[in-house]
Amino acid sequence: MAPIRIDNLRKGFGSLEVLKGIDLDIADGEFVCFLGPSGCGKSTLLRSIAGLEKLDGGVIRLGERDITHEPSARRDIAMVFQNYALYPHMNVRRNLSFGLALNGMKRGEIDRRVENVADILRIKELLGRKPRQLSGGQRQRVAIGRAIVREPKLFLLDEPLSNLDAGLRVTMRVELAALHARLGTTMIYVTHDQVEAMTLSDRVVVLDKGKVSQFGTPLELFYQPANLFVAGFIGSPR
Ligand code: ADP
Ligand code: MG
Repeated sequence: MAPIRIDNLRKGFGSLEVLKGIDLDIADGEFVCFLGPSGCGKSTLLRSIAGLEKLDGGVIRLGERDITHEPSARRDIAMVFQNYALYPHMNVRRNLSFGLALNGMKRGEIDRRVENVADILRIKELLGRKPRQLSGGQRQRVAIGRAIVREPKLFLLDEPLSNLDAGLRVTMRVELAALHARLGTTMIYVTHDQVEAMTLSDRVVVLDKGKVSQFGTPLELFYQPANLFVAGFIGSPR
């Protein structure tokens, strides 16, 4: 069980206040999008959850655990970035298995997981290839595979499709929804694209200048926007 609970999270860079007291309760298995314009703090919030930022204040709980001060590697959280940097000199199999081997996992268990993930993401025939021999969509699948092979409790994605062309973005969106249905893992997905957020999410967190402007289902946001910012950003009839 991995619900995530965030209380009064604050983070700035120098004199710039970026996250100004974020409170969030995300249920186990939920697919949640962080939606907002560029610069509103989406990536900083995601990186804070992943343990990649030193916080100014607040508490983060994953399940029963207070993970606020746990190092990133111990959080059972996997993250996929926009540029999904794969290791260029390693083939796909090695890209998928490298992190597990580093953690001392046994060969048999690694192979089982890699085969399973390759099966789910339909990249079995690519296991012997190097990243440069893959298309953009295939690379993105491998990056996602590298995250889920760890069987994380929480799966974070930061604008993972923004470097793909429009057609592929739609395809990958459908695949991500299917992946979520299959894994049941809690997922948080950062995007500045309202269509993406509205089609993928159980609930959407609308961020405005480092604050939660509204947290609700796509239908709630559309028909009952909490304020003009949400209405304008979502394009609801108000
Ligand atoms: P978003 O992902 O919503 O576009 P970010 O979380 O990346 O926004 O950034 C929020 C604000 O924090 C921006 O003004 C950005 O320039 C600033 N910022 C982000 N990371 C750093 C950093 N490492 N050092 C200084 N400023 C940063
Ligand atoms: Mg960002």
